[in-house]
Amino acid sequence: MIAEEPGHPLMAIKRLLIANRGEIALRIHRAAREMGIETVAVHSTADADAMHVRLADHAVCIGPPAAKDSYLNIAAIISAAEITQADAIHPGYGFLSENAKFAEIVEAHGITWIGPKPEHIRTMGDKVEAKRTAGKLGLPLVPGSDGAIEDPEVAARIAEEIGYPVIIKAASGGGGRGMKVCNGPDELERLMQQAGNEAKAAFGDATVYLEKYLGNPRHIEFQIFGDGNGKAIHLGERDCSLQRRHQKVLEEAPSPVISSEERERMGGIVSKAMADMGYRGAGTIEFLWENGEFYFIEMNTRLQVEHPVTEAITGVDLVREQIRIADGRPLSVTQDEIEFKGHAIECRINAEDPFNFTPSPGLVTTYHASGGMHVRVDSGLYAGYRIPPYYDSMIAKLIVYGRTREGCIMRLKRALEEMVIEGVKTSIPLHQRLLEDPVFLNGDYSIKYLEQWLAGETPAE
Ligand code: ADP
Repeated sequence: MIAEEPGHPLMAIKRLLIANRGEIALRIHRAAREMGIETVAVHSTADADAMHVRLADHAVCIGPPAAKDSYLNIAAIISAAEITQADAIHPGYGFLSENAKFAEIVEAHGITWIGPKPEHIRTMGDKVEAKRTAGKLGLPLVPGSDGAIEDPEVAARIAEEIGYPVIIKAASGGGGRGMKVCNGPDELERLMQQAGNEAKAAFGDATVYLEKYLGNPRHIEFQIFGDGNGKAIHLGERDCSLQRRHQKVLEEAPSPVISSEERERMGGIVSKAMADMGYRGAGTIEFLWENGEFYFIEMNTRLQVEHPVTEAITGVDLVREQIRIADGRPLSVTQDEIEFKGHAIECRINAEDPFNFTPSPGLVTTYHASGGMHVRVDSGLYAGYRIPPYYDSMIAKLIVYGRTREGCIMRLKRALEEMVIEGVKTSIPLHQRLLEDPVFLNGDYSIKYLEQWLAGETPAE
């Protein structure tokens, strides 16, 4: 069992600015309050009535609705921290969370950055560099080009060697964008050109690289945590194979296909890699998994949306851990103390049509969150809240725990039945149908499965 430690009056961090919005801003606020730390919310004009603003001890408006003018506005956020005398900043996920420059600016202002070392954010943010680093650290890679490629002839030779189909990926890509699958030599040059142009337009960087395209893999990622001084632990894996357009829809831990021996073996490899790197804070190492083999694809140097499933099966509060490490304390748990118990599933609930996925922002007229044993709802919703159209459509996460996967699914069905969100459309009906699907129930799905299943589903009336 992991001992609970009360909020410590000697914590160096006294006032934490949360550079984010929505459910994750609330999540961070809650961890901070439990540690006796005050919180500062920042918000755009569109979010003046948001729950994260209402709950925080202090709030500062940092700009108009467009994210580039508010949640991505570094000068405004730093000013907000200075005005409120915040001594730490937590970036959440998305927005500025993987912006190495922002991390450096925060530190240059003498404010504690609750995140990895800026150089590690930078290295892992460039997928070519990340792959090279992962290879050096002993992580298994997807076969592919050893770095960026420009010359179509070199690309053709490599593609021939690794075998078609191959995938052309943007070094600066993210969010599932900037990828092209190439089935044969005749289309390679054209697709490389296209991928480069699109990457340049989207990310300001035309660099691309080549990888073997795996036909039917699962997406399995490991949660890791480092103290920045050469100690690191892993908190097991999450299976995030249920995706639509490379966006995760439902995640579970543990993965239905990973044995405890395999978890221990891979967990050992990833935590050793992170220890060797001197990694600090929370991170996720993403792999594709096919025929029993892991292939590194990327590392995320931040908290993930799906972190609560790991919290549910390990009992470790990851945000609390992030704050502790940033505060210069050691990890509160050792690898030996971490036990993986039971099963957890997270459903991402979006304000959108459940079957054609068009966004559905607007006024929430009724809201009732599910409750009961082992049910957690992370959300900033309330009745009378108007979901703004400017941001991500995810409005709630429902996380359910059970002693077994079957028990977890039964409880999740019950929790979904109880949840009431009226006034906007949500993805709840999609999750309800998915939970009846025999392939999902068997746990026998790959990253292709959800889209295939959706293609065969009749739309909701
Ligand atoms: P991003 O940073 O844009 O999320 P990733 O490298 O993490 O990009 O890949 C996103 C998704 O794209 C993966 O979860 C997987 O579905 C698919 N993908 C990426 N690389 C490959 C590959 N080599 N073979 C098959 N699918 C892949």
